[in-house]
Order: sequence, then structure tokens, then C-alpha cells
Amino acid sequence: MLKTIALENFNLASAIHQHALHSPHTTAIACQSQTLSYGEFAERAARLASCLTLSPEGQAPRVGILASRGVDACVALLGACWAGATYVPIALKQPQDRILTLLAQCNLSALITDDEGLKLLTGRLLQACPTLVIHVGQPPLTAWENPSHSLIQLTSLPPATLSAPALVKASDTAYIIFTSGTTGIPKGVMISAGAARHYVTMICQQLGLQASDRALETCELSFDFSVHNMFSTWEAGAALHILPATTVMNAVKFVKHSELTVWNSVPSLAGMLRQLKALAPGSLATLRLTVFGGEQLPASTVTAWQSAAPNSLIFNLYGPTEATVFCLYQVVSKPLALTPGRDAVSIGLPLPGNEAQVVDENDQPVARNTPGELLIAGVQLSDGYLGAPALTTARFPLLEGRRWYRTGDLALCDEHGRFHCLGRIDNQVKVMGYRVELEEIDAHLRMVCGSDIVGSVAWPVADGMARGIVSFVNAASIDAPRTIEALKSRLPPYMLPNRIIALNAIPLSANGKVDRKALRQLLDTQAP
Ligand code: AMP
Repeated sequence: MLKTIALENFNLASAIHQHALHSPHTTAIACQSQTLSYGEFAERAARLASCLTLSPEGQAPRVGILASRGVDACVALLGACWAGATYVPIALKQPQDRILTLLAQCNLSALITDDEGLKLLTGRLLQACPTLVIHVGQPPLTAWENPSHSLIQLTSLPPATLSAPALVKASDTAYIIFTSGTTGIPKGVMISAGAARHYVTMICQQLGLQASDRALETCELSFDFSVHNMFSTWEAGAALHILPATTVMNAVKFVKHSELTVWNSVPSLAGMLRQLKALAPGSLATLRLTVFGGEQLPASTVTAWQSAAPNSLIFNLYGPTEATVFCLYQVVSKPLALTPGRDAVSIGLPLPGNEAQVVDENDQPVARNTPGELLIAGVQLSDGYLGAPALTTARFPLLEGRRWYRTGDLALCDEHGRFHCLGRIDNQVKVMGYRVELEEIDAHLRMVCGSDIVGSVAWPVADGMARGIVSFVNAASIDAPRTIEALKSRLPPYMLPNRIIALNAIPLSANGKVDRKALRQLLDTQAP
């Protein structure tokens, strides 16, 4: 007798499909005046998916999402998942040239856009786009007059029946997220559906998320923290409340007004709210859970948060995009598990399915309490960088038959087996939660100012967090405003230097490299 084996579906949309069948009227997303129930959300996604068919070779389509966070962006993303496509978020707030660089790398089969994204689709950008463009927002007032590209309006498609999302294998690519690249070109991190599904189900369980939760979204789709926010919330059948980018400073009011129970953000946002004196004692009393991640969590932020959100358990989550969102965790409890000699919380232990070790320059494990590079292994590891096999081999080495990812983080493992992050081995920094390779800024600065010797540093640093970038140029003088203006067409806003300073002789280290430490010291001594 023939046995049929049911294949497991690793489609990220599967959980939403189930909630749409069993609790269709429960809220899935809310943003400003728009709310979608699970039933409505799934129907729109299924309708969108009907336009995204498999290529003749049977390969999953690769679909770009040109949208800023909001209900439409979520529909775009879920529609791509529903079709079994790989989704590729493309941030709106970046120069056209950078978007063109991403498009050139991706070979997209379709592009889904919201109202804001649609405004960008003209001229050079449109020429670089796939011929199929789908718009998920309100129908545009002016007719689409681009014969080279067909525009499909989601609202004009017939309603869809709720058939199950396309079958996705664990090895299929769920999404590609671009991060800053040292050469000046962003690199696309490919995450498999197996890794993404593992992360979502595992973290939902670890955090104990429930269908009654109302969780905060503070991230754009191009930052992989959004994968956590969206899919862990939807896995639980809970409601995702999206904080509009224009009202970030009113986050406390937003939480109160929507009676949110789960906070998700980089610690920088909490640090900024603290500086604005918005974290009054008890002001976040509805929160039962806080997830901080993506950058160092300062003890001072924790103290302020514990007073503002007295009913909330706090998690510090650590992880690079290359290991699917977060792979280590520390529950923040008293006494605080602090990193020796630093005002920051430990990054704790590997999450289920992940492994971590600290190695020396010969990739040999070091003794407890000895600093070295942090390596990660396990089911969440990325398949590598899009179209960059050499870089992939270098960053994901096979050590004694096991595949690891070199994080570039300097770390140690203490006597309790707890990991601590001590900074970077390379020149990657976090500015307000954004990952920035200082060399990427330098590469563009060289091209703009014509000087070979340049160096950028993250400065100032307050509470252990970088607030901006200052760049130096080896020159007698520089027209800083003009140079910054020129960089605007090459770099996203968070990578732009706040200041550019000309130095007759840029300090160099013994091996002739720009000495960034000396540059930071120079700024520190000049600061009032
Ligand atoms: P991204 O790929 O943008 O998530 O950035 C990953 C990098 O951010 C890591 O390699 C660390 O340098 C830093 N990072 C992420 N989470 C934490 C954390 N909880 N504590 C300290 N650093 C972190």
C-alpha cells in the first residue's frame, strides 16, 4: 500500500492562515486608524499571492518590498510569503543609487510597493525594477503611465478564497536582508525558511507570548528585528501595534493609549526616551514583557525601565542578522548580570537550537573569562551572502566539520557559562540601533572628497551608545556642508556624518592604518 507523507510547510504565513481559520475576527495589525483582523489580513495576503506565480523552472519568485512600516507593508510581506516567495525589504529612506545597487544584486521577479514607495518609482529606478509592480495602498489619483511596467492594484483584484499558503521547504530562502558592507556595497544576508520558522516558534515559546498580547513594532522591514516583532506576535495570534516613524518620541503615550503588553525595541529608543524624561515611574505599567535587542543594553537603561515598567519582565536578546535575528538571551533579573568592567547587561546563554563559543586568532576555543571572537552555530545560521561565495566562506568557516559564523564581536564566556559582549574586533558600530560598517562611509567619503586618507568614528557615545558619526579627511580644509550634501546621494540618513573635519595629518597606527582610537580621543578632548 502506498503511504502518503505529509510534508511540513515552513511557510512563515502558515500560522496566520491557521489564526484566520480559527479566530478570523481577532486583531492582527493596528497602525494609526487602520486595523486588520486575522481574517482580513490573510485574505489580502492570499489575494496578493495570486499574482505571484512560480517561474517556469519552478523556482520561488524573489519579491522586493518597497514600503515603510505600516499595515500595507505587512500585507505586502505576508502576500510574498503566502506565494512561497523570498521577500527582500528595500528601505525607502536611502538614496536612489543605493536602491539601484540592491536591485542590481537581487534579480527580482516582482516588486510590491505602498503609497510612499510608489512615489519613488520613476525614471532610473523604474527602469531597474522588474516588469511586475503591485501596489498595496490606495489607488493613485493619477493614472499609471509607464508602458514598460504593468501596475497591479491590489484593491482591484477579486477577493481570494483562503487556500493554504504555498508549500515551502526548510531549505528555501524566506528572506534576504541587506546590511552595511565594508567595501561600500551592502551585502544581502540569505535566511532559509527552516531557520526563520525555527526562530519564530522557538522565541514565541521562550517569551511565553499569548493571543491576548498587544505587541509593539518599532522597526522597518529592512531591520531583521522586524521579523521578530511581526512573526512572533502573529505566531501567538496576538495583535501587532505599529508605532509610526513620525511619533517615535511619543512611544510612552502610544503604549498607554493602546494598553500594550509587549515592548520590542533597540535599547537606544529607551535611552532616548529617558533623556527626554518621558520614562516617569509607572508610565509603562501595562507592559508585562520587554524585549531589548540588537545592541548593548546599558544598566542605566534597565534601571530607568524597571521604574517606568514595574510589571514587565525584561529580556536582553543578542544576535547578528546572519544568525536569524537573535541567538542568545539574558533575562534581566536582580542582581543584574553585568559584563565585568562595563555598565552593560550580559548577553547570556544560547537560545534553543543555537551554540556559541569564544575562540582565539587560530580558531581555538579559549579558557573561561578569556576574551576572543564570538562564533555562533546551529539551525539559525544564514546560508550566506547573496552572490558573494568568497565572503560567505570567509565568514562561515567549517571548524572540525561544523559550520560557524564569525560575529566579529569580542566576547568572553564567564565561569557560569554566560557570554559577555566586549565590543567589536572590526569597525562595525551601531548608531541608534542601525548596523554601520565605518569602512562603508569611508569608501564613499573617499570618492566624494578625493582624499585617500579618511576615517570615520562613532561619536559622541552616551550611556555606551553611539549618537552619531564624525568623519575626518586628510586635507588642509574641507567644505563640510557640501561634502555631507554629496554623501546624501550615496548613504542612508543614519550613516551620514554629523561633522566632517579636515586634519593636516590624520593619526595613523603602527601598521599605517587610520587610527580611529586617536580620532575619538581627539574629539573627546575637544568636547565641552
Ligand atoms: P545586526 O545584524 O544589525 O542585528 O547587528 C548585529 C550586531 O549588533 C552584533 O554582532 C553585535 O555587535 C550587536 N548586538 C546585537 N545585539 C546585541 C546585544 N544584546 N548586546 C550587545 N551587542 C549586540
